[in-house]
Amino acid sequence: MCLFCKIINKEIPSNIVAENDDFLAFHDINPKAPVHILAIPKIHVDSFHDVDASIMSGMTEFIKEIAVKMGIDNTGYRVITNIGDDGGQEVKHLHFHILGGAKLKWGHFSDSNPKDNF
Ligand code: 5GP
Ligand code: ZN
Repeated sequence: MCLFCKIINKEIPSNIVAENDDFLAFHDINPKAPVHILAIPKIHVDSFHDVDASIMSGMTEFIKEIAVKMGIDNTGYRVITNIGDDGGQEVKHLHFHILGGAKLKWGHFSDSNPKDNF
C-alpha cells in the first residue's frame, strides 16, 4: 500500500484539514510556503495522467473549499500536481499541492530553504 493510502487509512498520522467520502486534505510535512496543503482522492490513482475526469470534477470543488478554509481564496494561491519522474513526483498517489499565504515566486521551488519560494 502506498504512503498516501496509509495516510487515508490513518495507519500513518497526518495533520488533516478536511475530509469527505472521496477526498482528504492534510498539511505537507515539509511545507514550501506558509500554507502548503496536499489534496488527494481516497481512491488510489497513480498520477494526474491516470485520473478520470469524473474524479477531477469533485477534486476541483474540494480544492476550492480548502482554499476558503485556509483563508487564501481572496489573496490567491497556486495548485500544482507533479507527474512522473521528470515532473518531480515522489509519491505515486495523485496529489495536488495547494500553496499560498505569501506572494509566491514563479520559476523554481527550493527544497533547501522554503523562504526562497516566496
Ligand atoms: P511530490 O514531490 O510527490 O509532488 O510531493 C510529495 C509531497 O509529499 C512532498 O511535498 C512531501 O513533503 C510530502 N510528504 C512526503 N511524505 C509525507 C508524509 O508522510 N506526510 C505528509 N504530511 N507529507 C508528506
Ligand atoms: Zn495510494
